[in-house]
Amino acid sequence: MKIVATDALLVIDPQNDFCEGGRLAVAGGAGVMPTINQLAERFKRVIVTQDWHTPDQVSFASNHDGAAPFTEIDVAYGRQMLWPDHCLQGSPGADFHPDVAPTVRKSSAVIRKGYNPAVDSYSGFFENDRRTPTGLSGLLRELGVTRVVLCGLAYDYCVRFTAEDAVREGFEAVVIRDATRAIAPETAAEAGRRFAALGVIELEAADLLRIA
Ligand SMILES: [Zn+2]
Repeated sequence: MKIVATDALLVIDPQNDFCEGGRLAVAGGAGVMPTINQLAERFKRVIVTQDWHTPDQVSFASNHDGAAPFTEIDVAYGRQMLWPDHCLQGSPGADFHPDVAPTVRKSSAVIRKGYNPAVDSYSGFFENDRRTPTGLSGLLRELGVTRVVLCGLAYDYCVRFTAEDAVREGFEAVVIRDATRAIAPETAAEAGRRFAALGVIELEAADLLRIA
């Protein structure tokens, strides 16, 4: 795939809490950062998302008496997975992983999400109520972007929902499989099925990097 001026690289939540030693660590999470940096060098536009929660976030298991992380509950907008506390605003866990610093430096925008305590946000485009926009769609449109290339963490949640919403918003979407990691095999398989059904293309980083 040849990268063109109307492409944007979307780097999803490359944060400490999603890497080894973090509060919601994804296996191999830190290992994707060098690949992300290689990709970012090739793009004119790089946009990063940042999970950015307050302690009273509805999706934290700690806010529901006796509830365990990785179980689901009903909230005002539907089913919601409960998580360990993570990516607290201003905490070291919410910081970008140091290995992805060149990409963050190059990025023209950081889209923060999940800051509404009453609604979690996986997608970079919409909160989990599927209605409240983050502003990313308008930003991309004003920049003339027609295709987004996604990488980051995690494949089966925030990358998945961002890619699905990109298609819903009229953008082409490409996921770089080896520049992302999944939380669990079952949800990763489900993400792959959704991508195939929606026309989200999955490539390897080499498919982009070997073409100058
Ligand atoms: Zn989160």
